[in-house]
Amino acid sequence: MSKVHRQTKIIFTIGPATEDEEVIAALIERQVDICRLNMAHANHAWTREIIDRIHKVCRETGRQIAIMMDVKGPEIRTGVIGETLQLERGEPFDFFPDPDRVEELREESVRGVSVNYPGLAKDLKVGDTVLVDSGLIRMRVLDVRPERIRCEVRIPGPMGNRRHINLPGTKVNLPCLTMKDKEDILVGIEKGVDFYALSFVREPGDIDIMRRFVSDNGSKAGIIAKIEDQTAIANLNDIIKASDGLMVARGDLGIEIPYETLPVVQRRAVKSCLSMGKPVIVATHMLESMITQPMPTRAEITDVANAVSEQADCVMLSGETTVGQYPLECVEVLNRIALTMEAQQTQPYNTDLKLKTAKALMLRSAVMLCDEIDGAGLVIFTRSGYGAQTVSALRPRNSPIFAFTDVPRILRQMLIMRGVEPFLMDFEDDPEVTIINAIDHIKRSGWTSAGKSLVILSNALAGKRIIETLQVRTVE
Ligand code: PEP
Repeated sequence: MSKVHRQTKIIFTIGPATEDEEVIAALIERQVDICRLNMAHANHAWTREIIDRIHKVCRETGRQIAIMMDVKGPEIRTGVIGETLQLERGEPFDFFPDPDRVEELREESVRGVSVNYPGLAKDLKVGDTVLVDSGLIRMRVLDVRPERIRCEVRIPGPMGNRRHINLPGTKVNLPCLTMKDKEDILVGIEKGVDFYALSFVREPGDIDIMRRFVSDNGSKAGIIAKIEDQTAIANLNDIIKASDGLMVARGDLGIEIPYETLPVVQRRAVKSCLSMGKPVIVATHMLESMITQPMPTRAEITDVANAVSEQADCVMLSGETTVGQYPLECVEVLNRIALTMEAQQTQPYNTDLKLKTAKALMLRSAVMLCDEIDGAGLVIFTRSGYGAQTVSALRPRNSPIFAFTDVPRILRQMLIMRGVEPFLMDFEDDPEVTIINAIDHIKRSGWTSAGKSLVILSNALAGKRIIETLQVRTVE
């Protein structure tokens, strides 16, 4: 019997509920693939300690997971208000872009708070919507002056300190990387994180700026674009092209766009990534009720199942694993749903992916062959990860992709790709020896057994020449 292969990858966000060594080990044992650090809630001492701890547990368990640092990006927040205000429907409310002038500008009869964005008045116009605290409070802009934006409260709620502001439909002109983001990224580079996720990406240029900063500071980490607002949706294909992967960040996205369009956007984002051969993550509220309950709701089960059926590369846990009471159970739930849905899959390989080179067409032949041979696995050797990414994007129906590399960073970066089971192994001068070693690795780790077929993409010696080959071998 071979081990059961889950194609969909699992990302968990680390927090107080999961940061102990034993819990990290238990998550790794349950086959999580990527640990996400949400820098909106992390300081540098904690970040360094956690990354060291994850690396230690990976060494001890003998299984690698990748680390993704999620940087906050351009975020607008209200300032300190003191005691929570209970807003009332219809009351006027002021936002002051200069925190030093709040007392001077505040009117006796109108309540208000500072915001951390000096350019707010330049971006807003009368009639625009301002949402506070993840959309709990809804306001409409009545009047805009450089020093004060007056709104009318449409949907009231409690206004606390430092609440997140969303401006649906407004193009915010904040820089894509803040000073805090840059300082966070430098800590990530020092500790060797594998991916950065950039929040509130609005255009491909944001990714270019991020990539330049990361590479100028000596890192080859992958850059994941989080799409969270309408501007990002308008620039979706160019953002995918510029990035190494996409996160459908449904938390903010569900506030920034009419919520009924969220499934449409999710589907489009996943499809676009598939047609461009880039990994895609479906994130947020996948098992939200499991923060406090041991069982998912029926709607959550269906939501996860839909993401798997849409063939997203990864599903992601946030609050479920940062503060939830059942983090291990959440991973088990994702495992069970993903395995069940993947077994239902009948669609052929991904025909939308545009393949430009002869090598890429050969990768497609390998995937088609795998789909035809019952229980076959696909073996590929890669130093850049690119071949594995293309094979993954072709979405072989049920075959695991055994991807061998001799570069530790590439091994971890392949963990984001659907269906890829990566291995670290030295390559020999004689390709035949490399193939035999690879088959031995796969067999010893329980992923295949005697009599099973492996479709192998490898170099081979033809006389003195090295040629690319596509071979089918039976495991002995
Ligand atoms: C989201 O909004 O869905 C998301 C993943 O981002 P964050 O957790 O940073 O708000």
